[in-house]
Amino acid sequence: MSGKIALEEHFNLPDFSDEVPEYVSPENMREINRRLLDLGAERLGEMDAAGIDFPRQAVTRAQAANDQLAKVVAAHPTRYGGFAALPLQDPAAAAAELERCVTQLGFHGALVNGFTSIGDADTGWYYDHERFLPFWERVEALGVPVYLHPRDPLAGNQGIYEGHPELFGAVWTFTVETSTHALRLMTSGLFDRFPKLTVILGHLGETLPFNMWRISHRAAAMGDLIKFEKPLRSYLLNNFYVTTSGNFHTQTLNATLAEMGVDRVLYSSDYPYESMREASDWFDNAAISDNDRLRIGYTNARCLFPNIPEKIGQ
Ligand code: ZN
Repeated sequence: MSGKIALEEHFNLPDFSDEVPEYVSPENMREINRRLLDLGAERLGEMDAAGIDFPRQAVTRAQAANDQLAKVVAAHPTRYGGFAALPLQDPAAAAAELERCVTQLGFHGALVNGFTSIGDADTGWYYDHERFLPFWERVEALGVPVYLHPRDPLAGNQGIYEGHPELFGAVWTFTVETSTHALRLMTSGLFDRFPKLTVILGHLGETLPFNMWRISHRAAAMGDLIKFEKPLRSYLLNNFYVTTSGNFHTQTLNATLAEMGVDRVLYSSDYPYESMREASDWFDNAAISDNDRLRIGYTNARCLFPNIPEKIGQ
């Protein structure tokens, strides 16, 4: 399928290149670091081969990175779009930077890498805390989504993995960390307060689509502990989108479609941690209907990001 729109495609900027955590072996990381820095011919060639017109960009640092990203987008306006990096250590500044990115730089939302580190290595702020309510209020008012991308757990939460370093990163710890963070947002009542908020999860929803009925069913029996108003599952279905990033398995995709509906699923590869070619070879040939393929690969993203240039995919 040509003309696909992809969201969770990573890059880095030379000024920030020593700040990428090593989630894979050193040899693989060298190649990933090289690819993260390339925003020119090689990446566009990979995109052409994989049939991707318009990957989203993720950045790991705030204003300077957003300005640099805006320049990259301006150089390839029909191929790239921006997600803002936000300084969430200061929620009011993050809200202001998001507004600047959306209204002045033409970005389509924000991408955040899990909790925000504060001070030492074992302190993190999750976004269900009330200090972030003004931030979420601005997100809802701007009408843009926030992509909740994984990171590894805080040092103090890593005990269950002791002796098993092979379970870190995309193998498993990312999934537990990110699905738990998403559940914190749901159970905090955030989506009752801001019912139009939209959060995007990668990797086909970090297992939540497969477990949501049980989570919702058991949470409803928690009595006085409950701070939310609706069945938890309804937040997943109404406030979340999921992408195919890094999860190229048709059975899993079909289960996600059955739980969430085709309107809530978007295409992504997770380049360069995953191969664009492998992702598109799988997606273009997966046993789903061509109508669903078009909606996941293109139409849903066009609806969610109305400011994508008209020329995309034509
Ligand atoms: Zn990713």
